[in-house]
Amino acid sequence: MYYELPMHYRQTVAGQVSLEGIGLHSGEKIAMKLIPAEPGSGVVFVRTDLGGLTIPADLDHAGPSFYATVIQKDGESVSTIEHLMAAVYSLRVDDLRVELDGVEVPILDGSSRPFVELLNTAGLKQSSVERSYLHITRPVSVSHEDKKISVYPCREYRVTYAIDFDHPLLGYQELTASLWHADDFYRKLSPARTFTFEKDVEALRRNGLAKGGSLENAVVLGEDRILNPGLRFQDEFVRHKMLDLTGDLSLLRYPMRGHVIAYRAGHDLHARLARKIHESPDSWYLAPWREEERSAAGRFDA
Ligand SMILES: [Zn+2]
Repeated sequence: MYYELPMHYRQTVAGQVSLEGIGLHSGEKIAMKLIPAEPGSGVVFVRTDLGGLTIPADLDHAGPSFYATVIQKDGESVSTIEHLMAAVYSLRVDDLRVELDGVEVPILDGSSRPFVELLNTAGLKQSSVERSYLHITRPVSVSHEDKKISVYPCREYRVTYAIDFDHPLLGYQELTASLWHADDFYRKLSPARTFTFEKDVEALRRNGLAKGGSLENAVVLGEDRILNPGLRFQDEFVRHKMLDLTGDLSLLRYPMRGHVIAYRAGHDLHARLARKIHESPDSWYLAPWREEERSAAGRFDA
């Protein structure tokens, strides 16, 4: 066995941890707590400022998502969950209570790294309930104009992503990576920060967005230079898109065994792919690891 995953049972955090930070869009200071949850309960957000309103992180509660991933219930919402959810999903934290005293998850440094570190501080605890994996058996695709995203059968979770911006510092970037192990996510994607264009910042602010945005939590591209002191990867931009995709797919609630191929996608297309998978039950099945192990002969890597 090459990839012997030690954990095929549902996990939660071993203890409670918390942090505080600014919301990217609201600009508010928000406190967040991660709290152990019962096996099978899934990831549930709790708005403590709204009397403990609970919103499950699943497709039934997914809201419109153009600038961030949003879940909603009873006219209330939690926004910007994707960087936390990418870490939670990649570390195979199946059940978790996330308490927030505001409308969005703190943006921190604009990447998933602080969330991975917080989860590592909490530690993970296995239950005796087996985890199911979502096995893609047939391709599923969605497209919009020249943007496209598809998923194909694959023995692990793997992503190929291409972005193509009309900008001298960005242009075309493409990367394929295996993201099956928590460590893959940690090394390859988790440090990649969100990015924006200086020319768009004013328009976002006029629409009441990005009020908490700064060079501390986003890479900002000017016309011909990057305003931040440096990048964390040469291709940090495409890596961040893969991170966002992983957070958006987490709303499917099960680790996916499939190869996603995306061209110029974004939150909206990611969400539409997740929904189309959900609505195409002839294209996948859910099964625990044991049943699958026989055919999982080898490890592929980028
Ligand atoms: Zn993002």
